[in-house]
Amino acid sequence: MLKSDYKFDTLQVHAGARPDPSTGARQIPIYQNTAYVFKSILHAEALFDLKELGHIYSRLSNPTVSVLQERLATLEGGIGAICSSSGHSAQILALFPLMQPGDNLIASTRLYGGTVQQFTNTIKKFGWSANFVDVDDTDQISKLINSKTKAIFCESISNPGGHVTDLPKISKVAKKLSIPLIVDNTAATPYLCNPFKFGADLIVHSTTKYISGNGTSLGGAVIDSGSFNWTKNNKFPSLSEPEPGYHGLKFHDTFGPYAFIIYSIAVSLRDLGMTMAPQNAFHTLLGLETLSLRMKKHVSNAKRVAEWLNKHPEVEEVTYAGLKSSKYANRVKKIYPKGAGALFTVALKGGYEACIKLINNVNLFSHVSNLGDTRSLIIHPASTVHRQLTPEQQVKAGLAPNVLRLSIGIEDPIDLIKDLKQALE
Ligand SMILES: *Cc1c(COP(=O)(O)O)cnc(C)c1O
Repeated sequence: MLKSDYKFDTLQVHAGARPDPSTGARQIPIYQNTAYVFKSILHAEALFDLKELGHIYSRLSNPTVSVLQERLATLEGGIGAICSSSGHSAQILALFPLMQPGDNLIASTRLYGGTVQQFTNTIKKFGWSANFVDVDDTDQISKLINSKTKAIFCESISNPGGHVTDLPKISKVAKKLSIPLIVDNTAATPYLCNPFKFGADLIVHSTTKYISGNGTSLGGAVIDSGSFNWTKNNKFPSLSEPEPGYHGLKFHDTFGPYAFIIYSIAVSLRDLGMTMAPQNAFHTLLGLETLSLRMKKHVSNAKRVAEWLNKHPEVEEVTYAGLKSSKYANRVKKIYPKGAGALFTVALKGGYEACIKLINNVNLFSHVSNLGDTRSLIIHPASTVHRQLTPEQQVKAGLAPNVLRLSIGIEDPIDLIKDLKQALE
């Protein structure tokens, strides 16, 4: 067993893994496998009744994916995790046990563009809705919460501007009103921020980004702190009341703090099927082994590039919270002491035209819609990842037409600055 007092750098390599018991293989085998042999009818019955936990079918669980789940839960300090096919599916997986038709959530205005879209339009098909609010305005959060509000959702370091969220302040409101706080920790990673320490109840990740790190594999995860009381006020009947989709089983009565995790396997993954493929779990685990090494370099590079851009005469504004001049400097010290990530936006004085010219002239930066890659990436959000947003939503997300988003990679910062310099000229 792995000692729980090991430090982050040790846990990112070892947590959840052990040499393969049948072959001694040291690296995690890829269990490219759909089904698992039952020992007997009684064994199969016990598994299907959730009286014994074990692998049944890879839509529900898989040994390679399980290692990644255990590793992410350990790094985030949660009691368990569920992986899924993408960050977007992880968001649905986080909400599914909490929400009934007619329910709503409070969501930050500063979210990944795809999430704004998912929460504005797509979740309406489930009968859910989202109220968007600037989460720095906690009075406004309290005002919007009603008897049908089942979650508050924000990003720790927000995409695209790298705005750093005051998690302790929001969690205070969430706790007072007994609403779970869900934090998307994609852009910070557990290396830069531990949302559970600041009162979050669930964490979601797009493991597609920094966790896997090399832009190879889509993936997502939900991690449960195990600390939220799902039985209070009968607000979360899927977890506290008899579940018709599981012959009347009461998940909280039966599994206590593991109710959310077991429900996610037994009902959410079983019926929605947004499962992570074992190959993707394997690639994600390879990336995760070097997370802290990469994040240190991402952060120091981002600082260098942001500082340089901030002094450039063509630049109107750089949003990087890691700049000494940032209005978030104190918040960074308190909540993100190892750095403010490597994602920020740059507003150019030359407007939209200047943005297009810059993107057309970079050589080293890749023009893609990903982030959190070892490679440095650039994009014009208003015409791409935030294109489906209304102009008003774009402005609220900090995305005027003269704004570019940079995701700073782990290359040599001198080369990155050289590339931006020649392109700006
Ligand atoms: C990319 C991203 C998502 C969506 O994740 P996918 O893996 O692309 O589905 C959600 N939240 C944030 C902050 C992201 O950057």
